[in-house]
Amino acid sequence: MYSSYMRRRPARSYSCRMSMTIDAPTLQGGPSLPQERRLVTSIPGPKSEALIARKQAAVSAGVGTMMPVYAAAAGGGVIVDVDGNSLIDLGSGIAVTNVGNADPHVTAAVIEQVQRFTHTCFTITPYDGYVEVAEALNRLTPGDHAKRTALFNSGAEAVENAIKIARYYTGKSAVVAFDHGYHGRTNLTMALTAKAMPYKAGFGPFAPDVYRAPMSYPYRDGLSGAEAAERAIHMMDRQIGVDRIAAIIIEPIQGEGGFVVPAEGFLPALQKWANANNVVFIADEVQTGFARTGQMFASEHEGVVPDLITLAKGIAGGLPLAAVTGKAEIMDAPHAGGLGGTYGGNPIATAAALGALQAYDEHDLLARALELEGIIRHELTALQSTDARIGDIRGRGAMMAIELVDANGKPDAALTGKVAKHCHVNGVIVLTCGTDGNVIRLLPPLSIGDDLLREGISVIAEALAAN
Ligand SMILES: *Cc1c(COP(=O)(O)O)cnc(C)c1O
Repeated sequence: MYSSYMRRRPARSYSCRMSMTIDAPTLQGGPSLPQERRLVTSIPGPKSEALIARKQAAVSAGVGTMMPVYAAAAGGGVIVDVDGNSLIDLGSGIAVTNVGNADPHVTAAVIEQVQRFTHTCFTITPYDGYVEVAEALNRLTPGDHAKRTALFNSGAEAVENAIKIARYYTGKSAVVAFDHGYHGRTNLTMALTAKAMPYKAGFGPFAPDVYRAPMSYPYRDGLSGAEAAERAIHMMDRQIGVDRIAAIIIEPIQGEGGFVVPAEGFLPALQKWANANNVVFIADEVQTGFARTGQMFASEHEGVVPDLITLAKGIAGGLPLAAVTGKAEIMDAPHAGGLGGTYGGNPIATAAALGALQAYDEHDLLARALELEGIIRHELTALQSTDARIGDIRGRGAMMAIELVDANGKPDAALTGKVAKHCHVNGVIVLTCGTDGNVIRLLPPLSIGDDLLREGISVIAEALAAN
């Protein structure tokens, strides 16, 4: 059997083509990387061009890439590409490397753990790192009630599990998400996500019993928080019926949907209504969590205490880890074996999370996020005073955005695309977002320096001037 199997198949080498074969500079990442914008080729350079061609031939076209450069090393506030260009990072890999790329606390914890063991499966042979992360999240998340945590691999998986838990606990099935909301790309989270293109188009049918309520969007609706909450609650009462609603899920500041900060009072009013009606209030803090907004969690800005909170992105310095943390009686409702997964709370990822938590603390990154907000607000406000196309400046901490509009105040996605492109080819990584694709968002690593951040924003200013 074995030999005939061998004969049928051509001799083939299974060794990987290492990245070394493309002569990537062997750079050490982390904070010691020179903190500068430096372009030594056009963007993309020849080595990135070669990788773009290989990607096209090897990787599903459904996996798009925004930047036309391939990374070789990263740290502080820069990403160095395979051609030796050093780009200013205003994206943090979508709000993930809040503590900075290759942060020494994270790399040391990962190296120590990877040499001890790489996987046992927590649901088979558990280990202390998982429990320690759970203890830390129970302590750090809002509210002083008894809490429990379950760990997963991605934000979408955390959201899926939060919904499972809420349904189990309440015995109800309907779930409400909000206009412009983003919660992931799995089937249930696509149903929760608002924007069709690119997240949902062609991928249905979607999970049932999911509804969408109107969001508070002060720049667009002009409503107070109380008025917007009343509008959303009226819709839920009349169109769904509160006796059917298991949970509402909301981002305290919307991420992909356009960095929409709800009007003051909106979130507390929804929380109060949910608590009074046996509806589980889930704060999706996958993007806003971990010091990003100047508080450890964005719910804290208005004293909101969610029943459940979903976490991922900034949790582990770039390693895949996610969590649902919440009230003990809700989290303990499902039967043993109802939650889990092969990799959830992987030991290397939990070690990285413990390293990252040390970094948040030791570098006082909450304060740093507020300092970055000060710089960003100052620069963007100056820019807005001479450019009416910046309709709105909003956000908190190191999660800030500008909404770009045309002369009639309508969303200007074309301008937004041109501004982003200009930044990209001039060595600044910026991301766009918004249901209408007209928002430039800034998510710098909290390890970026003041001057580099200012230089990055000056390139956005140049981009606006040139378009
Ligand atoms: C990114 C994101 C998710 C999905 O996280 P993944 O790790 O990409 O699955 C869910 N919710 C919010 C608010 C997000 O920003």
